[in-house]
Amino acid sequence: MRDTGEFDVSSELLAWYDRHARKMPWRVSPVDRAAGVRPDPYRVWLSEVMLQQTTVAAVRDYFMRFTTRWPTVQALAAAPDDQVMGEWAGLGYYARARNLLKCARAVAEDHDGIFPDTYDTLLDLPGIGPYTAAAISAIAFDRPETVLDGNVERVMARLYNIHDPLPGSKPALKNKAATLTPDVRPGDYAQAVMDLGATICTPKSPTCGICPLRDPCLSRKAGTQADLPRKTPKKPKPTRYGHVYIAQRNDAALLLERRPDKGLLGGMLGWPGSDWSDAPAETPPFPADWQALPGEVRHTFTHFHLILRIWTAPLPEDLAPNDLIIMDKHTFRPKVLPTVMRKALDLWLGQ
Ligand code: SF4
Repeated sequence: MRDTGEFDVSSELLAWYDRHARKMPWRVSPVDRAAGVRPDPYRVWLSEVMLQQTTVAAVRDYFMRFTTRWPTVQALAAAPDDQVMGEWAGLGYYARARNLLKCARAVAEDHDGIFPDTYDTLLDLPGIGPYTAAAISAIAFDRPETVLDGNVERVMARLYNIHDPLPGSKPALKNKAATLTPDVRPGDYAQAVMDLGATICTPKSPTCGICPLRDPCLSRKAGTQADLPRKTPKKPKPTRYGHVYIAQRNDAALLLERRPDKGLLGGMLGWPGSDWSDAPAETPPFPADWQALPGEVRHTFTHFHLILRIWTAPLPEDLAPNDLIIMDKHTFRPKVLPTVMRKALDLWLGQ
């Protein structure tokens, strides 16, 4: 059933989208799409991976840099890991960047550089979960998959006045979203619901007066839209602590480590340091008169807050510690570091 009462939600949303679609560098406008232009699956995939946990505004510049430097999935697949991780630095959630490369290489090697075009085949690729598979399948290949991101959840909870809290209500919201997904222009429709959630049915103060769904919207009738969607309260994040060691040679070379592939910031370069825990032991990478910098670095990850103490010492000329990297000053670029490690660099440089 696609209608809410007599109201055809998908037709109204598509008509609204034709007038108000947001312009995005990875998007084909409704006018161009009607004229036969098809989205590039590589650009759709790249944008969807970048947009996970991040806003459109934050992603735009990264997307432009990536696609200028690597205009095709084959070009990205052939890129050195460090260059890709360097371009990604600042976007966070570095496991996504590692999976991005794995996925590009799988498409290049196993699919002759052509993205598979169904939900199930997309789901087999590294780093592509149910949401991303549905989004690529709908947006790039115009298949009637149901795409459920935070914007769509909010629109569905309000349209149907669903008060069960997230995340438990996800299946019910997806069910509602699925009943509305049309066979006609499903790609534009998926983007239309997301745009409605991002521009009109916003988290705070939805502008119901200009909303194309104001007539059938049950929460607007009940006056409950500002309370929806409800969310199960999150547990407060714990705080962990750590030590970081910055050592520099007389010629300005720096001592770095590559973090293990698995785990937080996996595969990224960083300063050698302790584990991150309630009471980490001091673990300097070589014996020296390490001096603690005044101040500390604070950073928040998805599941915890981190407070780092920064220690410095001169790096002896003849020292080459096992498993660590000595990087000369011409090779070192702060952007190769993840944000938390750059904060440590900034604290050190500031003193
Ligand atoms: S009428 Fe208001 S609450 Fe309902 S979908 Fe539109 S903007 Fe959201």
